[in-house]
Amino acid sequence: MTGRVYLVGSGPGDPELLTVKAKRLIEEADVVLHDKLPGPALALVPDEKAEDVGKRAGGDRTSQQYTNDRLVELAEQGKTVVRLKGGDPFVFGRGGEEMEHLADHGVEFEYVPGVTAGVAGPGVAGIPVTHRDHNSSVSFVTGHEDPTKDESAVDWGALAATGGTIVVYMGVGRLPDYTRVLMEEGMDPETPVALVERATWPDQQVAVGTLDTIVEVRDEEGIEPPAITVIGPVAATRERVEAFLRTGGEPPTEGE
Ligand code: SAH
Repeated sequence: MTGRVYLVGSGPGDPELLTVKAKRLIEEADVVLHDKLPGPALALVPDEKAEDVGKRAGGDRTSQQYTNDRLVELAEQGKTVVRLKGGDPFVFGRGGEEMEHLADHGVEFEYVPGVTAGVAGPGVAGIPVTHRDHNSSVSFVTGHEDPTKDESAVDWGALAATGGTIVVYMGVGRLPDYTRVLMEEGMDPETPVALVERATWPDQQVAVGTLDTIVEVRDEEGIEPPAITVIGPVAATRERVEAFLRTGGEPPTEGE
């Protein structure tokens, strides 16, 4: 009897943002393969089930091939396996590759969606990724690549032209490069930009600026990965709502 693999999204970090289904599957699983990104949500995974396939102590990344093979191996042993990934498994999470590998090896799997950081991150900072007054489209892109490379898979020029919200995953390091390219491609340097680090984690941090100033703001505020960059007029809504914005389910402070 072959086991089954569940490709499960953990949401952005707050353990209460797992789906009810994700929580049940973790409870029922024999093994939970995870990396570091689920962050505080890993508190829901009992130690005896947890298998870390993320960064190793030495700094090397466990290879994707190892993870793929391990999923198949465990399934072939008849195990029920949860492959737990930060956010949603199919958004910059290699869940697609893992799914293909499982199918190629005849292993049954189920996809369990999670709340992706590109929507939740801006949201918890008071920034809706769409807003009728500001935009009618949103693009989710990776900021990992060099935007000046000719073969860059992200067409920043086309994004600049859409007028929609741009949400960048893995975009802390190359922030100077793609903000410059967007301005060169004609975007207003005054366009609001926000960075949301560790959204929904206890140490969440938000920093706001413009295309022109955000690199400086990043450095001043010490924003580090994992963080989401959100570019567009919607990023300015934070300022308007911030005084009344609560996150993490905290009760109102005394006197409110
Ligand atoms: N599958 C994940 C994304 C994985 S790529 C998802 O759907 O959310 C890794 C990137 O996700 C990070 O570099 C960062 O840009 C973003 N990210 C994930 N969790 C985050 C969080 N809690 N706060 C801010 N950014 C986060």
